[in-house]
Amino acid sequence: MDNRLHGLRITNQRAVLYDYLTHQSLPKTPEEIFEELPTGSMDLSTVYRTLDTFFKVHVIQKSYIQNKVYYHLTTDEHKHYLVCIDCHEMSEIDVCPFHEFESKIQKDNDFLVTYHPVELYGYCKKCKSNHQESPSTP
Ligand SMILES: [Zn+2]
Ligand SMILES: [Zn+2]
Repeated sequence: MDNRLHGLRITNQRAVLYDYLTHQSLPKTPEEIFEELPTGSMDLSTVYRTLDTFFKVHVIQKSYIQNKVYYHLTTDEHKHYLVCIDCHEMSEIDVCPFHEFESKIQKDNDFLVTYHPVELYGYCKKCKSNHQESPSTP
């Protein structure tokens, strides 16, 4: 038995989508996923529906990045992302700014935290030079 799909019946389309997601290092929007899947494997509404099903059983997680929904597989070492507000390039960071606080927050609020999508916004290496005039420096 394959328990990666958390008890879901494994259909062809679920297998295709799951396989695709295991090969992505960055979160993807449903539209991106649809475009990058092999042509004819499923239509966009099936992508939406399957992502929704995966999300409900915690196979994948959602991030809201600049008002768009991105999906990525649930992993043990979760990632956070840097998002360039100029060219929209995303890159991942290994450090988790919440790690130390999470258990305290859980205890103090009697709340079980299951995940915390966190993105940091700014300018990437390429775009930084166009925005170098920092107003705070004298
Ligand atoms: Zn950029
Ligand atoms: Zn984290």
